[in-house]
Amino acid sequence: MGIRTIAVYSDADAGAMHVAMADEAHHIGPSPARSSYLSIENLTDAIAKSGAAAVHPGYGFLSENAEFAEACAAAGAVFVGPPPDAIRAMGSKSNAKTLMESASVPLVPGYHGASQDLETLAGAAADIGYPVLIKASAGGGGRGMRRVDAAEEFEKALEGAKRESASAFGDDTVLVEKFVTHPRHIEMQVFADSHGGAVHLFERDCSLQRRHQKVVEEAPAPGLSDAARVEMGNAAVAAARAVGYVGAGTVEFIVEGLHVSEPGHFFFMEMNTRLQVEHPVTEMITGVDLVEWQIRIAAGEPLPMRQDELTVDGHAVEVRLYAENPARNFLPQTGRLDHLVFPPDSANVRVDTGVRGGDDVSMYYDPMIAKIITWDQDRNTALRRMRGALAKTEVVGVVTNRAFLAAVAAHPAFLAAELETGFIETHLADLTPDAGVASPMMLALAALGEVLDTQSPTLNQGDPASPWNARDGWRLNGRGESILRFRDGDAVVEFAVRYDGSDFLFDFASGPVRAAGSLNDDGGAGSIFAVIDGA
Ligand code: ADP
Ligand code: ADP
Ligand code: MG
Repeated sequence: MGIRTIAVYSDADAGAMHVAMADEAHHIGPSPARSSYLSIENLTDAIAKSGAAAVHPGYGFLSENAEFAEACAAAGAVFVGPPPDAIRAMGSKSNAKTLMESASVPLVPGYHGASQDLETLAGAAADIGYPVLIKASAGGGGRGMRRVDAAEEFEKALEGAKRESASAFGDDTVLVEKFVTHPRHIEMQVFADSHGGAVHLFERDCSLQRRHQKVVEEAPAPGLSDAARVEMGNAAVAAARAVGYVGAGTVEFIVEGLHVSEPGHFFFMEMNTRLQVEHPVTEMITGVDLVEWQIRIAAGEPLPMRQDELTVDGHAVEVRLYAENPARNFLPQTGRLDHLVFPPDSANVRVDTGVRGGDDVSMYYDPMIAKIITWDQDRNTALRRMRGALAKTEVVGVVTNRAFLAAVAAHPAFLAAELETGFIETHLADLTPDAGVASPMMLALAALGEVLDTQSPTLNQGDPASPWNARDGWRLNGRGESILRFRDGDAVVEFAVRYDGSDFLFDFASGPVRAAGSLNDDGGAGSIFAVIDGA
């Protein structure tokens, strides 16, 4: 769009990719988000210093903060987002539900009133009928939420939800909802301009979740009928209009999964008043650049397209690649990304990332490494593209969920679109298989990489202890053999290596393996060419 970009950064991000990409960058404080990315004062200082004309708040931090939107306006910059009143109206799930009720948007049966005593809330749960869900009214990111299956568990769950909500959001107001069975999360992308125009850009299915957090998103939603799509789209546009919405927003619905093909089985959950993490799948199927639309609308332009001009083309899937360890209950990981290779961008594959090889995944922010998005004419082909893209994704240095995502993209139940929010929990054993011990092929590749690396005069110059750097004519074949030792999980694997012409012989317990090859620098990424037992 020809717009000059200004980045902001904390101490931890001084060398970050977004800083390198921007035309200009301003320091806004120490690494903890509270003192930098969440500091309205430091951000408005940066607006003043840089003379920024507009602020795009992204999708974390202060992107749904009405006070920040007001502070931007006061500092003379356009906030690329909805009016502060619309943010406030949707910020409380309880208020939002009351508003939606009057706009005739279907709600999950439940209680979202002001009385917060045990008797009222437990009484509401009994009226609704178990199972119910207790939710933090101010909640987000799946926190402050408790499923309750029976009356005798209600009090304890309520205490837990209130405690979590108070500490995470500084507000312990809760609401009670019917827990929808076979739930699917389907959300509608909406856009409104400041001239009274409002459209939707179809739906995204975000049913694949862990602990109420999205892991895989796709569009369109498998099995959703045209009639249900139109009804849901109209409800989403009505929701946006009811709060005088301007800009990009997402209206989230919970859908009864067994009735996804029929109209009338979706219920409003909440509206997110910002760009969503999963917006690329909508961009891939509509051809619309949502961020460009956000900027145009913030500049006062009308919506670039009418509802009847918007169409769906093909199918798109997004996975969230995280530094986390699925084998350790998805524990977040920190560390250096020693090696990072993504599949090349194409019409079918898109990678959104903020890190490069050599960068650190720090403890300060979300451990997401990238979003990988694939597109094709139909769902199965888009998923095949995803399996290929994940196979070409290489991360060394921190443990990631890459193999877990690949297992999801190959799971028969997922391929059959048997979607619901409990999918990952139900199939967890299939999706996080025990890696087992390394195969002879894998071990041979590791051993070959090690001996070639040790031999390489350029890669190994700095190591005076390496026999390969000795100038005394030492040769492995002159000495007989050496021993290599690898750690494989908790086990130690040890074997002899012999040198035979240009080949190496590895004496594995399972039998000898012959190997030869070379290391390629590949512009720093690094790869190995290997011939193992003739293959
Ligand atoms: P958050 O603000 O944390 O995103 P949401 O209200 O959007 O909270 O709910 C998060 C997730 O919790 C949903 O995507 C869905 O998986 C689950 N959920 C929410 N409400 C219900 C419900 N009434 N029945 C079943 N599952 C629900
Ligand atoms: P392209 O040339 O389109 O990049 P590839 O030659 O890498 O594709 O792969 C052909 C097809 O096979 C692709 O559609 C890809 O999704 C799939 N594919 C490639 N590698 C793998 C793999 N290791 N596992 C599963 N599927 C793969
Ligand atoms: Mg939500």
